[in-house]
Amino acid sequence: MKKVKRKGKKSSPLSRRAFLTASAAGAAMAMAPGASALPSEASPTGTGRKTAPTRMDKGTQTVHSVCLACNARCGVRGVVKDGRLVNISGNPYHPYNMQFAPIGEETPVAEALKISSPVCGKALDTPSHIYSPYRLIRPLKRTGPRGSGQFEPIEWDQLIAEVSGGGKLFAHLGEEREVEGLKGLLAQEPVSKDDPGLGPKQNGFVFMTGRLQTGRKEFIDRFVKSAVGSRNRIGHTDICGLGFRMGNWALTGAKQAELKADALNARYILVIGANIYEALQPGINTYGAMVARRHGQGELDFAVADPRATRASAHAKEWIPVKPGRDGALAMGIIRWMIENQAVNRDYLTAPNIKTAQKRGFATVSNATHLVICDTHHPDDGAFLRMGHLDPTLGDPKKTSPMVQSPEGTFQPAEETTETVLEAKGVIRDASGTPIRVKTAFALLKESAFSHSLSDYAQFCGVPETQIASVAREFSSHGPRAAVTQYHGAGNYVNGTWAAYAVAALSALVGSIGMQGGYLHGGGKAGSPHKGVFDLKGFPGRKKPSGVALSREKASYESTEEYRSKQEKTGSGYPSRRPWFPFSKGGLCVECLSGMDEQYPYPAKVLFTYLFNPVYSIPGGYRFKETLSSTDKVPLHVSMDVAINESNIYADYIVPDLSYAEGHHGWLTPHAPALTFSAIRTPMVRPLTEHTKDGRPFCTETFLIDLAKALGLGGFGDKAIPDSKGTLHPLNRAEDFYLRGFANICHNAGVPEASPEEVRFVETNYPIATHKKILPEDQWRRVCRLLSRGGVFEPYEKGFSKGRFTKATPHVHLYNETLGTTRNTLTGIRFSGVPGYLEPTDSTGVPLSRADKEYPFTVVTYKSRLHTQSRSLWCDRAMEIQDENHVEIHAEDARRLNLKAGDRVNISSRSNPEGISGTARPTDLVRPGCIAISFHFGHTQFGGSSLTVKNGARAFLGGESIMDGSRLIPTPGYTKGLNMNDVSRLDEHLARTPLVDPAAGIPDFSSTRVRIRREQKNC
Ligand code: SF4
Repeated sequence: MKKVKRKGKKSSPLSRRAFLTASAAGAAMAMAPGASALPSEASPTGTGRKTAPTRMDKGTQTVHSVCLACNARCGVRGVVKDGRLVNISGNPYHPYNMQFAPIGEETPVAEALKISSPVCGKALDTPSHIYSPYRLIRPLKRTGPRGSGQFEPIEWDQLIAEVSGGGKLFAHLGEEREVEGLKGLLAQEPVSKDDPGLGPKQNGFVFMTGRLQTGRKEFIDRFVKSAVGSRNRIGHTDICGLGFRMGNWALTGAKQAELKADALNARYILVIGANIYEALQPGINTYGAMVARRHGQGELDFAVADPRATRASAHAKEWIPVKPGRDGALAMGIIRWMIENQAVNRDYLTAPNIKTAQKRGFATVSNATHLVICDTHHPDDGAFLRMGHLDPTLGDPKKTSPMVQSPEGTFQPAEETTETVLEAKGVIRDASGTPIRVKTAFALLKESAFSHSLSDYAQFCGVPETQIASVAREFSSHGPRAAVTQYHGAGNYVNGTWAAYAVAALSALVGSIGMQGGYLHGGGKAGSPHKGVFDLKGFPGRKKPSGVALSREKASYESTEEYRSKQEKTGSGYPSRRPWFPFSKGGLCVECLSGMDEQYPYPAKVLFTYLFNPVYSIPGGYRFKETLSSTDKVPLHVSMDVAINESNIYADYIVPDLSYAEGHHGWLTPHAPALTFSAIRTPMVRPLTEHTKDGRPFCTETFLIDLAKALGLGGFGDKAIPDSKGTLHPLNRAEDFYLRGFANICHNAGVPEASPEEVRFVETNYPIATHKKILPEDQWRRVCRLLSRGGVFEPYEKGFSKGRFTKATPHVHLYNETLGTTRNTLTGIRFSGVPGYLEPTDSTGVPLSRADKEYPFTVVTYKSRLHTQSRSLWCDRAMEIQDENHVEIHAEDARRLNLKAGDRVNISSRSNPEGISGTARPTDLVRPGCIAISFHFGHTQFGGSSLTVKNGARAFLGGESIMDGSRLIPTPGYTKGLNMNDVSRLDEHLARTPLVDPAAGIPDFSSTRVRIRREQKNC
């Protein structure tokens, strides 16, 4: 058998030892800001082997850009030799690479180049990732049934003609159906004749995105929303970490989703479901490093709550081995203890308005003292009691001030008083004398917390009462310098909305929201890319999408014909066929696919997927193989990707895309607490895909531009981008868009022109300089300054005044009125508007622990510090160190089951009784009753399987080296390990689609219960 050879690949210049040194989390974390030794650019190692060329070597080019090996957005400095990316390190202008203490933007580039800064191990593997021989370089069309793995390369013009025009595209395969191309969806008619409110026919075009960041996001939205007019550009926030975001979303009244403890100034951090030393955003060389350093200096203590002892647990004051899916019980136990022991910050909580709160020294105000209508007879039951409810002459109550109770017992508008009662319940009469029952938000929170005893909570979450109490005591003892950092694990499961809300509320109870050292969101961009010199959003003929998303996110079920007709027939409009999610932050790829499967609320016609692998990445994603195989449910599927993956193997066409290092442009904002910046991503090397006749690379932008032109859509072509005077400029290639966005950022952030030396630096190092003529010279010189520094970065300190974050969202919601007045569309029952503990259930409300009690273990997943997302198989060095994951089981459980390290075991669930296989690894680092399986492995594609690709040598970067005739030669090691998502629980009451949270559509990563048994050895 022919073995895979890497075409054009020189032997790795970066030795394994150098890589290990460079990526050792501990070493990186211990590095102080400004440290000058950078392992990835170090001198020869002393082993006799040479390290990679560095920026100081002759004949190299250096480019500052932004990493995309994960979503954290660190700066990178790419070193290019002979046109090939050979080395990656950090960008010292970028605060992420320097633990928030970057070099000043006034530092000349020549000086900056002498300064090194770290990146993590994942970033170091960028070169091996981008030069994988399995990279696609030409468009593919399937030549067999969907999923059969049969493709052939086609010409670009054929791709554009067929996807835009449709027709009998697969007649040669015996498929006589007429495929509706995008052109067919442009007609002016509703997507559903039964319910025009669902929007226009254009909503039949669904564009689902995997890893998508700003820059490309705006470009894709321009095509999908503004040019075609579809409502359905659906992200993947749900699988990315919607759970914890929903907690913050509820707490901030749908204003912010990314709040975390201020690692630079907090005195105590309670880390819940966040892997801070291996995979957080910001990344491990930023947030994890800051926590480790400050902990080492005695400035910070922290505790880690997680079913698995993450690496940070080694430094933590304590590991709290909470049961999976029970973080809400832990948080509510802490809340109960804090209320019972008067450990909440009353000074903060009793402030009725922002002015009073600020006078008391706080950055934000909570609604703890605001009165909520708790009266089923009242039409606004669940809403805040407002002036307008008491005095109808004031008009719409929603526009009037909420009411509070004074210590004297009178009711006052919150805006007009300074002293209030925190815990009030009572009856108030409106102008007509009708009594209205009311309670303060705090009283409702207390009721929720006191609905279970501390020992109940201890039992629910599997953490001893004494430990809950000691954590609560410690947390509250630090006042506004204590905060939580929660992530994926804290709420990514059914009912995770309330769990993550409870976790987020802990910071509110100590008054730390918006305080330096407390719970903060990022400061956003330093300069808008959208307007200023050019208008990147508006253009003649721009469409405005309307109707309902296929995922039913942010949409009201009660406005539909389905609701109205059910109400007419039965007196109740409930249940809906599938859940609706008006309160969700959105990005619900799981419910979008489930909707596609059930053709609900309308059928999809054309599906585009971008860097998206749902079959692999969604818990229970295996269910969607059936959906993607069906030409009725998905009549046309086009994927844009760098590879053939487990999902686009079902696509009709695959468009080759560029990796971040050779073709992505963007303007990235921070996830980090309090930071404000616009970091710039720009290609470091030239595109590796083939190109059109006029020399543009095959990629997402070229594809969408050419489709738009073929369809005659506005916003693309020669007259597409208006400037501030109304003159229209062309959009014929990616750089036409992105360079103008960069010019806007320079304009809005006041970026000065670069010096002649720095213009020369950019023009001789950056591939984008080839297109500098797109901008007038003065704008180009400013863009050179921006590119040379990799962005515009404001100092951390600038975000604060008197210890308060100046951009803090002022209103903190301990009762969320929108959530509290929204109904579960499957039951018609109103949701609770306060944090609480709710056990994960199926859609009928049956707890999964009861439904699946014959499955004794709960399985959880996590990310390792070396591997990236699902494309990590191509990261040679990481694979050299770890090429497989394991079934991590507590040593006691292993002993009981007579399992030893290395035993092959089968893991099965109620939804996948056949199960999946892996290798057992007994450990003390997961709680008993749990199994932990890391992500990254258990693949079948990316070069893991043999496929049939006619003329395949033309289709892949590796050319002949990976083809044996029409057969793709696989790399067998790529299929090692297992993927927890392949056994995840499906909802038997909802068409066997993956489980989701009823309020927000959060998929469930924490409730699947499994059996484990040793596999028979073959003799
Ligand atoms: S944490 Fe690592 S992989 Fe993620 S962006 Fe930063 S350097 Fe890149």
